[in-house]
Formats: sequence, structure tokens, C-alpha cells
Amino acid sequence: MFVDRAIITIKAGDGGKGCVAFRREKYEPKGGPSGGDGGRGGDIVMAADEGLNTLLDFRGLSHWEAENGEPGRGKQQHGADGRDKVIRVPSGTQVYDNKTGQLIADLGPDQRAVIANGGRGGYGNEHFKTSTNQAPKSGTPGEPGQRREIRLDLKLIADIGIIGLPNAGKSTLLGALTHATPKIANYPFTTLSPQLGIAELDPARRMVLADVPGLIEGASRGKGLGHEFLRHVERTRVLVHLLDIRPEDGSDPADNYQIVRKEIYGYSPLLAEKEELIVLNKIDLVPDEKERTAAIARLRKKLKLPVREPIMTISGAGRSNLRETLEKMWKLLKHADQPAPARRATGPDA
Ligand code: GDP
Ligand code: MG
Repeated sequence: MFVDRAIITIKAGDGGKGCVAFRREKYEPKGGPSGGDGGRGGDIVMAADEGLNTLLDFRGLSHWEAENGEPGRGKQQHGADGRDKVIRVPSGTQVYDNKTGQLIADLGPDQRAVIANGGRGGYGNEHFKTSTNQAPKSGTPGEPGQRREIRLDLKLIADIGIIGLPNAGKSTLLGALTHATPKIANYPFTTLSPQLGIAELDPARRMVLADVPGLIEGASRGKGLGHEFLRHVERTRVLVHLLDIRPEDGSDPADNYQIVRKEIYGYSPLLAEKEELIVLNKIDLVPDEKERTAAIARLRKKLKLPVREPIMTISGAGRSNLRETLEKMWKLLKHADQPAPARRATGPDA
């Protein structure tokens, strides 16, 4: 399983100090104790948010604190409680104590949990008044808030798988599209390690991309892909089929497309059914506009693609047309997420 991981430190709020004060009133020169209690420190709370799907936001935000309780005041006034700090995490995030490894919370949809407790407020001296001690001169300090080092783990499911022959430019494209590589932990496939990255159009539109190394690549390295990996990539919703516009070995992009389709089909019919976007890569190798158009037309014709089926043209290494391609991928992803339209009722109408 791919695990996105973040380690953060958190500190719940300290309890406010209890107050030591005495009533000083005009006709009461020796007033009794009147110091109020301190307020409670805020808790650190983690809340699952369906709108988040990675731990990306924790990069550069590694320390979180809740508000301290206010100290008590004279005239028996309690200090105000500190506000809780609510940290939003993707649904499915597991929260561990990083020192002990203990699981603190496993946050399902809309769940929340207190991860660190705020300290209790201290007692003001009013609290200690007894029949034998009419004028206690001390209060107690507030309790410190809990401080913890926390590990967040999130199992990442790739949204989009990038397929293509070796040298099509999959790894290069993944690197160009993603500016963050999740820290991958507990990776059990000792076979081929697929690469994962997070692409971001904007913070509300992120996609997890996986470079799916082909079987041919695996075989050439004497490695298989394994069932774990298969199970993972089968959960992607969209495939990007990357084709080299002018392969070095002189092969035809259309033939290469068929080779990969056949391989994918043999490997997993379920994977083969996914929505696919054809992306013609390395267009920098064909700078001549006419030649390029001809190459695209040839590919279309050989693959018998319907006119409305798009072919994106990019240069992964030259980073051209990547934004448009990402937008297209996002659209397909949203489309794939929609339930299939209800089949129109057949049979005679009433
Ligand atoms: P993969 O085997 O599919 O992962 O392909 P790689 O990303 O490793 O790329 C294979 C080769 O193609 C490398 O030498 C890359 O530098 C080169 N390459 C990748 N993208 C482009 C591109 O857009 N233009 C050109 N000219 N070369 C590229
Ligand atoms: Mg590669």
C-alpha cells in the first residue's frame, strides 16, 4: 500500500494559572481570598474532511498549538478557556503517537477525535479557603497542555495510472506533473516499485498519479508486478496512455499502442476497461507543424479513433501543454466518478 505520511508536533493549551487576590473593599479591610481559577487550555482536535485527499498541506506546517487558558482574576473571576485547535485531515487518516507507535485515532468520514488534551486551569486562592485558613496565600499553576509528536498515515489510492511502453516517457511525465512525491512507507511489493506523485491544478483539485511500469519493463528486469500492485492499480479510475511520437527504434506509435493495450488486457481486464486518455509525447522531436499533424492523423486513422476522441500532444521533458492535459485528466476523473446514467426504460409506455 502506498502511504502518504506526515510527522507533526502538537501542543495543547496550558491551563491558566489560578489567581491569588483578596477582596479590598471600603468597609472590609480584611476581605477574604478572591482569586479565581484559571481557564482550561484548548485541546488539539483532528477532524476528517471529505474535501481533502492527501497530506500535502502538512508540508511546511509541522507544528500546531491550541490556545492557552487565561489566568484567573480577582473578584472570583475565572479565566477564559483556551480555544481548541481543529486540524483537518483527509478521511481515512490514521493518527499515531510517533514515539510509542500507538494508534490514537483512525478517522472515518466526518469523524473527529481529541489528540492532545488541554491542561486544567489552576485553582485560585479562593478555592483553598477553609475554616482554619481564612487567608490562603497561594493558588496553583495551570496544568501544562499535552505535547506530542504525531505521525499521520494515509493510504493513497492512485486516481490515474500512466501506462505506456518503456521509454515512452512515463517517469519523466510523472516528475513534470507532480511537484510532490508522497513519502511512501510500508511498501510491500518487493517487485517493481511504481512511482506515485500528487498533481495539483489548485488546492481543491489534486490527483494522485501512478507511473505503472509495464510488464515488459518488469520482465526485462526479471521482476513481476505482483498481486498487491495489481489490486492497487485496478482502483485507478482513469488511464493515461503515453505514446512516443517518434520512437528511437523506428517503431510505429499505433503499433506500440496496441502492444500496450494487449498487455494491459492480458494483465487485468478490469484495468483495460478504464477510461483512457491518449497522450502523444515528445512532440519537441517533431517541431514541424505539418509533420506533427500528419503523425496525429496517421495515429487516429490506424487506431480508428472517433473524431471526438481527443489526443493530447505534449512534451513531458519540455513541459509543454501539461496544464491542458491535467485539466483534461481532471475532467475525465470527474466523469468517471459519476454514476452511470440510468438506462432508459424500454417497453411500452403507459
Ligand atoms: P519511461 O520508461 O516510460 O518511464 O520513460 P522515461 O521517462 O524514463 O523516458 C525515457 C527517455 O525519453 C529518457 O531519455 C527521457 O529523457 C526521454 N524523454 C522523456 N520525455 C521526453 C520528451 O518530452 N521529449 C524528449 N525529446 N525526450 C523525452
Ligand atoms: Mg520509467
